[in-house]
Formats: sequence, structure tokens, C-alpha cells
Amino acid sequence: MRRVVVIGAGFGGLAAAALLAKDGFDVTVLERNDQPGGRAMLYREGGFSFDMGPSWYLLPDVFERFFARFGSAPADHYGLTRLDPAYRVFFDDGQSTDVAADLQRNLALFERIEPGGAGALRGYLARSEYQYRAAMDRFVYRDFRGAGDLLDRDLIVHGVRLRLFGRMDRLVARAFRDDRLRKLLTYNLVFLGCSPSRAPALYALMAHADFNLGVWYPHGGMNGVARSLYRLAKRQGARFVFGSPVTAIRLRGQRATAVDSATGRYPADAVLANADYHHVERTLLPAGARSYSARYWARRVVAPSACIVYLGLDRPVPALAHHNLLLQNGWDDHFRSIFDRPGWPERPALYVCRPSATDPAVAPPGSENLFLMMPAAAGLRDDDAARERCLGLMLRALERTIGEGIEGSIRVRRLFTHRDFAATFNAFRGTALGLAHTLRQTAFLRPSIQSRRVANLFFAGQYTTPGIGVPMTLIAAAIARDRMVAAVRRRAHA
Ligand SMILES: Cc1cc2nc3c(=O)[nH]c(=O)nc-3n(C[C@H](O)[C@H](O)[C@H](O)COP(=O)(O)OP(=O)(O)OC[C@H]3O[C@@H](n4cnc5c(N)ncnc54)[C@H](O)[C@@H]3O)c2cc1C
Repeated sequence: MRRVVVIGAGFGGLAAAALLAKDGFDVTVLERNDQPGGRAMLYREGGFSFDMGPSWYLLPDVFERFFARFGSAPADHYGLTRLDPAYRVFFDDGQSTDVAADLQRNLALFERIEPGGAGALRGYLARSEYQYRAAMDRFVYRDFRGAGDLLDRDLIVHGVRLRLFGRMDRLVARAFRDDRLRKLLTYNLVFLGCSPSRAPALYALMAHADFNLGVWYPHGGMNGVARSLYRLAKRQGARFVFGSPVTAIRLRGQRATAVDSATGRYPADAVLANADYHHVERTLLPAGARSYSARYWARRVVAPSACIVYLGLDRPVPALAHHNLLLQNGWDDHFRSIFDRPGWPERPALYVCRPSATDPAVAPPGSENLFLMMPAAAGLRDDDAARERCLGLMLRALERTIGEGIEGSIRVRRLFTHRDFAATFNAFRGTALGLAHTLRQTAFLRPSIQSRRVANLFFAGQYTTPGIGVPMTLIAAAIARDRMVAAVRRRAHA
């Protein structure tokens, strides 16, 4: 069992390829697009370089732990700058607030907004840090194989203490009265594909990530991190074939024997699928070899898609920080339109990234590189009219926020919505993020790392445990690698 074919060169596929090649496997990565990174692809036009997907480099410890497996550190691969402010939040009343890289300033900010806020934040962060450490030690790096794991007493005790079974919005509401502070502590749930009323209170751990571990900018952007992993995997001996859409996984009995793609047939002793789980199961495998039914997928809570626009402006927009949250509009309505009554929001909350605030290489001199994102329910019809309407909503919200018009300054403009996620990545219902982090889609309740029907087929990416986000996909790759190596050993001893 030497030859491993990896389907997809997203973060999950790149990380798994590097790990497996280091173990001595003969690794070939087949990627349908023409570059590595998957959702973290790069788009270049008119002198602008856009990170197409992720832009928040969070949980630096996870990256450190990953590179340590290769005897290196992130700094050996790319530079990192801690962002200060970490991000800027624009509220209803037109006021903006900076979350700083420094705890004392954040305590003062909370106290200013709500008397007693500093003490409440200290308490909240202490709990958040405990949750983070315990979750990392006991849940996140763990290979959950099934419900049996829940019988682990230790896990149940910690699950209760970690607030795995409480609701995030209630936890925050108990600690803070001011609506702005509540929003500040729950905005990042959208990145987990969840709303405050559906997310387990465990995700309060994200406050530790934001406030203590910090928000960082990797030099070269998130695509630069993906390219570092690509180079690392190649150095370990992995081969890459781009422009190679996989069309089928070939089977003999319960085992995969080869992978068919537009560039040929690749014999395999094992397959690691990084492409969207639903696509692999429903399109690349024959009916009898699927672990999950159509009904299973129909009942999943799919994480949001997004209406994104990449904008190249021919002038600076100094009112914006690197990361900006425009929460001045109908926050509750927007969450409802994503999770409860799927539809296009009327008054969306937006995320605006301005990487040119930090990195001059991403835009021509005197210009600005902007990424505007409005999360939207997966599966919506995004015809041309709907897309243009979303663009108009986003531009007007941004113009209101910065107090000036920008339409006349747009030199580059590219929209990316549901249909692009589906066409570019084979995304299930056009989702940006896979499956939401609801309690019922956590740990072993997420789709399995190993196929239940095809013994030598493994999965690594945002659909599996531990879940969504670049750091999580690095961990997923390590768990899948461990599972694959254990399977090889078992087979060798059989
Ligand atoms: C707009 C956006 C913003 C985000 N922001 C952040 C953020 O700020 N911070 C953060 O940590 N995370 C963020 N995320 C989440 C993070 O980007 C993802 O969780 C992560 O990149 C997913 O990686 P993956 O390897 O699971 O999947 P992907 O990146 O989707 O990789 C899967 C790969 O499989 C390929 N593929 C699909 N089908 C086939 C086929 N048939 N044959 C060959 N190849 C195939 C695809 O082309 C793709 O390259 C964001 C995501 C999006 C979309």
C-alpha cells in the first residue's frame, strides 16, 4: 500500500499530501483548478492580487503544531504580522470601535461601552481560554470514531464544563447587556457557519482566539500560506497535477483501486478525498459504495454561501482597517435569512477586508484592494439580477459607512456567489463552508474521516471533524493521515 491519490489541493489536501509523502507514501494530488489553495485561491487582475477566500489567520498555535511535524516553524515558510487593530467594527449609530491587539485597551473599551464591562470581559476570557485549551486537548485533535466515544466519562464531564450543551447567545447575554458587546462576541460564528442561537456555547472559545492569541497577517496572504504548504508537500516528494478534474473512484469489491480524471487513470492503494464530501460521495462513487444517503444530505444544516465582490479601487480608503465588520444593519434579520427563512437579506451585515492596509504588494501604488462579503443561505438562486442587487446593497452599505462614494473609483470588479462555488469547487448547494457547526454536526456527528463502505478511502477537509476554517483543515489532514497509517499497519499485519 504505497500509492496514495489525493483528490483536491485545498488546505486539507495539501496538508495531507505533505504528511503522507513524509511518511514515505507515493503521493499524487489531482486538482481540478489550475492552482493550489482551493477556497484560498488567488485572483489577479489589473495589478491587484485578491485572496479569494479566507483572510483571517487565527489560531497561530495550530499552524506551529503542524509545521513542527516537519521540524520547522511558520516563520521558516512565511512572515507574520500581528494586526493592530485586530479589526474595526462599525455599528448602527455610525460609530466605530477598534478591537486592539492589547488586552488592556480592550478592557478599557468594554468598560467604556458598559460599566463593569472590563470585569465581565476578564471573566469571559478566562472561561474562553479554559474552553479553548480543554477543547484542543480533548476534542479537536481527537479522531472520533463513533458514539462509543461519548461514553468516555472524562469527555462527558468536560463536555458539560465546556458548555458543549448550552447556547452561545444565552452565554453571552448572561455576561453582557450591551447589544454592541454581544455582537462583538458572536460575529465570528458566521465563520463557523452558525448563528448565535444554534451554536454550542463551547464556541465562546473563539474569544480567546481573537483577544488573546491575536489576529495575524501572513505575508503573501492566505494564498501564500497555501503555496507554502504546496512547496512543502513537493519537497516531501508529492506530485501535483493541476487542471485534473476527477470523474470517478474505481473500485474492486470494498476497495478503491484507481482514480479517473480528465488527465488519465491513476492507480491507487489508498485515496484521500479533500474535495467537497457530498460531491465525492454522490458523484465520484457508485451508489452501492456511498456511506450517506440522499436523505442524510437533505437533513444536514449546510453552512452559508456568500455574495463576495473583489474590488480594485484607484484611490485609498483610509477609514477602513485591515479587517472590518459592518454590523450596522439588521443583524437578527440577516441571521434569520441565513438559517431560519432562507432568502436574500434586505439589510445585510458585511465583512470588508482591506489587505492593502498592511501589504503594498496586493494593489498598485495609491490603489486599494477590497474584499466585500455578505454571508447568505446556501442553495439560493443567484441569477444575474440577484447578484447585482447584492452588489448594490453591499456598495451602498460601504459608502454609508465610510461617508463617501466609491463607485466611480472601481477599476476591477469580480463577483463570486453560489454558482461560482458550485462551478469552481463542486460545492454542495453552493456552500462556502461545508456543514455548519451545530451540536448535531460536531465531532463524530460530522461525516466520517474514513468511508464506511470503501475501506481504503479517507476524507480530510472542512466537512469532517474538527470542521470549518484553515486551522481545522490542517488538523483534519493530520487525523486522516493517522487513520490511514493505522489502516496500512493493520493490513500489513493481517
Ligand atoms: C469566502 C471565505 C472566507 C473564509 N474565511 C476564512 C478565514 O478568514 N479564516 C479561516 O481560517 N477560514 C476561512 N474560511 C474557511 C476556509 O477557507 C475553509 O474551511 C478551508 O479553506 C477549506 O479547505 P478544504 O481543504 O476543506 O476545501 P477546499 O479549499 O474547497 O479544497 C477542496 C479542493 O478540491 C478540489 N476539487 C473539487 N472537486 C474536485 C474534483 N472532482 N477533482 C479534483 N479536484 C476537485 C477543489 O477545486 C478544491 O481545490 C473561509 C472560506 C471562504 C469560502
